[in-house]
Amino acid sequence: MHTILEVINLHKKFSYQTNFFGKTQVYLNAVNGVSFKLFTNEILGLVGESGCGKSTLGKTLVKIEEPTSGRILLNLDDESVDLNELNKKEFRKYKRYIRMLFQDPFTSLNPRLPVKNIISEPLDVHYKYSQKEKTDKIIDIMQKVGLDPDYMRRYPHSFSGGQRQRIAFARALIMNPKILIADEPVSALDVSIQAQLINLIFKLKKDFQLSIIFISHDLSVVDRLADRIAVMYYGEIVEIGDKKEIIYNPKHPYTEALLSAVPIHNSESSLKNIQLKGELPSPHNSIGGCIFSNRCIYSQDVCKKEKPELKKIKNINHIYSCHLDQNLKGINI
Ligand code: SF4
Repeated sequence: MHTILEVINLHKKFSYQTNFFGKTQVYLNAVNGVSFKLFTNEILGLVGESGCGKSTLGKTLVKIEEPTSGRILLNLDDESVDLNELNKKEFRKYKRYIRMLFQDPFTSLNPRLPVKNIISEPLDVHYKYSQKEKTDKIIDIMQKVGLDPDYMRRYPHSFSGGQRQRIAFARALIMNPKILIADEPVSALDVSIQAQLINLIFKLKKDFQLSIIFISHDLSVVDRLADRIAVMYYGEIVEIGDKKEIIYNPKHPYTEALLSAVPIHNSESSLKNIQLKGELPSPHNSIGGCIFSNRCIYSQDVCKKEKPELKKIKNINHIYSCHLDQNLKGINI
């Protein structure tokens, strides 16, 4: 399997508290040593509660937020480049390969521009196309995302939420990227529209040979889309593996708790009584031991003292960080 993107020990800290001279005294660790691979033509679901750092992680990958440290290796056919080593000007050359899509289709589109200008904006930044070439590309991409090209002169307010998200897809894909980072793209939509957009994502993945990082707080949506799932908690990935492994054979208690909260496959889940205690800890506090220990129903003395290492299940692409090796309850079907 070809790795299109490899993230190694990525950190993103924000200044939380400064002293009289403006020097940062306390940092907020939004992304804390995250490592993972994205394979060509796969959908990697990234799940976790809101505030766990998953959106910040997505933004660091496209350098909307500058990472504090770590590596973001983009492996193209003819070259490999560490995006974190590039300055803004150098990154412009690679921006076309990795695009991001945001949650709210109502605020992510400029209300003062007609749709054709919104969609073609990335073309203006990157290439010099003739007006005719641009129009042809706009027509082509609008058809691919299921929009009528006759509407290209309309403004965003005249479209429904689902159509606006299709416009956002068109803008993200007009550069023919290799990687799409989709941050909760269906969360703000009705369930019936969600289903249409999920089908669209499968179609676009095939049409554009895309590799997708699909960020969501909703495991049931991720279950329908993803090939693999990464579970994020408190700025760290605590479990990652093939979808079936994560859903049916979770190894991290946080994954088990997330699974217990969602109906998957209309199954009668045996997990419905697991409830998370307390809140996600504040990200400017440093926690000794396991980051989940204050909420974990399996917590033991060792958990509060020692941070668990990442473990790999032998011969399976399934990694997790927990001191215990217990068999947790997955979804029963
Ligand atoms: Fe729970 Fe301990 Fe595992 Fe952390 S290391 S998830 S506290 S059992």
